[in-house]
Amino acid sequence: MSVKDPVKIEQMKWKEYDARMRELQPVIFLPVGALEQHGPHLPMNCDEVIPREISEDVARNINGLVAPSLFYGYKSQPRVGGGNHFPGTTSLSAEAMIASVRDVITEFARHGARRIVLMDGHSENTMFIIEGIDLALKELFRDRITDMKILRIGYYEFTSAETEKIVWPDGFPSWPLEHAGMMETSIMLYRHPELVDMSSLATDVPAEFPPYDVYPMSFENIPGLPRSGALSSAKLATAEKGKLMYDEYVSGISEAVTGEFGLA
Ligand code: ZN
Ligand code: MN
Repeated sequence: MSVKDPVKIEQMKWKEYDARMRELQPVIFLPVGALEQHGPHLPMNCDEVIPREISEDVARNINGLVAPSLFYGYKSQPRVGGGNHFPGTTSLSAEAMIASVRDVITEFARHGARRIVLMDGHSENTMFIIEGIDLALKELFRDRITDMKILRIGYYEFTSAETEKIVWPDGFPSWPLEHAGMMETSIMLYRHPELVDMSSLATDVPAEFPPYDVYPMSFENIPGLPRSGALSSAKLATAEKGKLMYDEYVSGISEAVTGEFGLA
C-alpha cells in the first residue's frame, strides 16, 4: 500500500483542494511530456517522468501542488527526437496540444490559481505550450482576470557549465542530439534504474544530420537518422551523474520559482 503524496492534486479531496487554493494560493506545476521512443535502452516515458518528478520535488520545497501531467506531446521531430514514424511514439496535433494547454490553465485559474509553472520535458512542445499560454492569458484577461503569472521551463536549461564538464567529459553534443543520450539516461539510472537496459545501448550514434528537415518522415527519407532511435552516446551515463543533474535542476528551479513568485 502506498501513502498519499501531499503535492499531487489528483490525490486530494475537492474540499481540501479548494481550501488550500483559497488560503495559500499555491504555485501549480503542470508537467508536459511525450510518449516517445527513447532508443533501445530507455523507456518511452522519459519526457513525462523526468519533468514530473522534478516538479514534485520543487513543489515539496515551496509548498506547491503538481497537476497530473499532459502526458502526450507534439509530434517527434527527426533531429530532436528521432521522428514521429517510430513505433511507440504517440503524439498530438498542434491544435490538440495548444487547446489542452489553454484549457488546463483556464481551469486552474477558475479554481483560483494565479501562479502556474509549465514544466516541459519534450522540446517539440515549446511553441505549442507558448501558444496555449498566450490564448489562456487572453481569454482570462477578457474575463478580467489580470493577475496571472505563468512560467514555462525546459528543466535541462538549468544545467550549469561545471556540471556540463563533468557529465560530458568528451564535449557536450547539443540539446537536440541529447535525445536518449547522457542526460536522460543518467537521470533515469538515478531515478528508475529498473527501466534502463545499459546492455542494449545504441551503437549507431552520434547522429550526423544535414542542416535541414525532410518530410514525410520515414527511415528511408531522413539522412543520418540512427535506426536505434537514440541520437548520441549514453555510454558514459551513470546514476551519480544523474543525481548531480537532477539535484541541480530541483534546486535551480526552486530558486527561480521562489524569486519569480516572491515566495521567500
Ligand atoms: Zn526525451
Ligand atoms: Mn522528446
